[in-house]
Amino acid sequence: MSLLVVGSMAFDSIKSPFGEVERVVGGSATYFSLAASYLSPVRMVSVVGRDFPKATLDLLASRNVDTQGVTVAEGDTFHWQGYYDFDLNTAHTVKTELNVFSDFAPVLPESYRDTPCVFLGNIAPSIQLDILRQVRSPRLIALDTMNYWIESALPELKQVIAKVDIVVVNEGEIRELTGEYNLVKAARALMSWGPSRVVIKRGEYGVLHVAGHHMFAAPAYPLETIFDPTGAGDSFAGGFMGYLASCGDRTLDEMDYRLATMYGSAIASFTVEAFSTARLQSLSQEDISARLSAFRTLTEFTI
Ligand code: AMP
Repeated sequence: MSLLVVGSMAFDSIKSPFGEVERVVGGSATYFSLAASYLSPVRMVSVVGRDFPKATLDLLASRNVDTQGVTVAEGDTFHWQGYYDFDLNTAHTVKTELNVFSDFAPVLPESYRDTPCVFLGNIAPSIQLDILRQVRSPRLIALDTMNYWIESALPELKQVIAKVDIVVVNEGEIRELTGEYNLVKAARALMSWGPSRVVIKRGEYGVLHVAGHHMFAAPAYPLETIFDPTGAGDSFAGGFMGYLASCGDRTLDEMDYRLATMYGSAIASFTVEAFSTARLQSLSQEDISARLSAFRTLTEFTI
């Protein structure tokens, strides 16, 4: 089953305690699509400037990713500048230059409109709403966002959250969004706005998944080498949604959501091993399977 994603394609300038890079390829839709493409075909909606490398668009197209919905516009590509201190769980934004996103009004190619799974990646809530107006009865809709949009576009963000099934968000953002410090209470508050599931990304502490009375907690893989956490959240979402889309038409149960969470965690654990998409784009199916098995060994015990 295919998967539609809308989100940013970007140049990122990042400083972490382990190095610094200038204007490398990033963006929520870029990380998401590369991650999801290991599990399901992806249809991408985004906008880049003429300065965006054609090699990245070619790489995506060679990977099960339909880039028909990516507009190449006059102007500069979105640019995000940020840094991490030794607490790699918190990205500090220095600058957000929307550039070609300032007046982007996506028009979905006709071939995208019946896509059954939709991921509204981190981007302006008005653009997320625009996509929902153009798709025809998707089976599953999930959404991600970040503090930038919580602080600048809360009314539209609440409007779009009310229309989705799943919210995938990080722990700082759900606290800011709901005003609840406790994550279980925050998830319940968010679910009272409409979604039936909330997946909270907790950086090196893993993921907490809450739906009705079910909860599932997954650790992050304890890595010895972490260079740059940028993109981990979007890669998680890509693996998570990619697995759900790969289930096809059958009814999803709690175990599917758990396995989807583990696929997301496994793929995200590779992203942080290098700057930009370098590691994410070079995985094999064996790498992913081996990381899933390592996760199982990590948490297995008997009583
Ligand atoms: P994450 O997976 O949460 O680390 O997200 C990292 C990506 O989010 C980076 O590659 C940035 O280009 C992108 N990003 C940063 N700020 C924004 C924003 N306000 N809207 C959309 N994407 C953003």
